[in-house]
Amino acid sequence: MNIGLLLITTFLSALNVLAKGPEMLPVSATAVSAPVVSFSAKPSASATENIVLSFSGDLIIHEDLYKKVVADKDHDFSKLWKKTFPLLAKANFSYVNLEGPTALGITNKLQNKGDVGFIYDNEVYSGTDLLFNYHPTLIDALQKSGFDIVSTVNNHSMDRGVKGINATIDALIKRNMPFIGTRKSGTEEPLYTLTKIKNFTVAWIGCTEMINGFNDRKSQLFLCYQQREEILKLIARVISEKKPDVVIIIPHWGVEYSPKPQQAQIDLAHEFLDMGATAVIGSHPHVLQPVEQYVTKDKRETFIAYSLGNFVANQRGIERKSSAVIYLQLSKNKLGKTVISDYYYEPTTRFRFDIFPARSDKDVVQHVEQFLGPMRDLKE
Ligand SMILES: [Zn+2]
Repeated sequence: MNIGLLLITTFLSALNVLAKGPEMLPVSATAVSAPVVSFSAKPSASATENIVLSFSGDLIIHEDLYKKVVADKDHDFSKLWKKTFPLLAKANFSYVNLEGPTALGITNKLQNKGDVGFIYDNEVYSGTDLLFNYHPTLIDALQKSGFDIVSTVNNHSMDRGVKGINATIDALIKRNMPFIGTRKSGTEEPLYTLTKIKNFTVAWIGCTEMINGFNDRKSQLFLCYQQREEILKLIARVISEKKPDVVIIIPHWGVEYSPKPQQAQIDLAHEFLDMGATAVIGSHPHVLQPVEQYVTKDKRETFIAYSLGNFVANQRGIERKSSAVIYLQLSKNKLGKTVISDYYYEPTTRFRFDIFPARSDKDVVQHVEQFLGPMRDLKE
C-alpha cells in the first residue's frame, strides 16, 4: 500500500467514526445536531408501486397578508405562495395544515352575517387576535396550488365555535377537498380520513394539543394528550379494519418558538408509530424542530417531523420564516408491504408578501439543515 492510499484510508476511517458517533462529539446544551435520516428500503422497480407525499407546515393568513389579498383585484390567496407551486407538483399528493376556519359569514361573536363579500373587517374575517377566520375561497386557492388534503385540527379549530367547524367542513365538502381531524356536530363520523393515491390507501389521523381555551363540547376533534388512548385505539382499529398501506398521524403540538420537541412529544410520537403508524408530521411551534428516523418495536423504519414551522405566516426572523416542503417516498416491497424508501425536502422562506423556494439562500439552508438534515441536490 502506498503512502497516499494509506492516508486516504486513514482519513476515510476517521470520517466513518465521525459519521457513526455524533454522540461522541462535544455538543453544547443548546445546539441542535443535524439529524441523520436514511431509509434502507429501495424504491420499487414498478412506477405504480411508488408514491411521493409532500408535507407543508402551518398556513396562517395573518392580517397583513390578508389585507394584501383583499387589496389585489384577483382576491386570490394563492398568489402569496405561487412560487412554491412547483414544489407541490413534485409529489403525487400534498398536505398542509389549514390553521383557522373558513366559515362563510361567521363573526368573532359567532353571529352569522351571511356572505359579506371578500373583505377584511376583523369581525367576520380575521388573521389576528387569536381568532382567525378566512373566506372559503382559500380552499379554492389551496386546490389550485396543488394541495390535495388539509388538516383542520389545530389550536384555531374553534375560533368560530362549533358553527365554524361545521361551516368549514361544508365549504371543504362543497369543493371536494379532503380534510383531516374534525367532524360536524351531532355526527359520529370516525375521526380518520382515507385517501387512495395510485395503488396505495393512506389513512390520516390528526389531533391538537389544545384549542386556545375553548371547549370541544360537541366532541368534534381529538386532543392529542387527553385522548391519547382513544387515538391509539383508533390507529389499531383503522389498521385492522381498513388495511391501509400507510398511516400518517398529524399532531398539532409543542411549545411555540422552541427548536426542540418536548419529551412528551417524543414519547407520544413513538407510541403512535409503535401502534402501527408510518409517519408523524407535526406542527404548531412556528419554527422548525428536528426530524427523526425511528425504528419501531416491530422493526419498521418510520419517520417523525416534530414541527414543520410556518409555511405561510407573517412572522419575523429567520427561524419563523424558514420552513420546508418535505417529501416521503413510499414503496411496496416484494411482499406487498409498504415501506418508506426516501426522504428529502425543499426549503422555503418569505420576503414581504412572497413565500418562495429558498435553496439558493445560504442562511435559510444553513438554518433548515440543522433540523432537517443535509439538503440534497434534487437536479435529476
Ligand atoms: Zn397552531
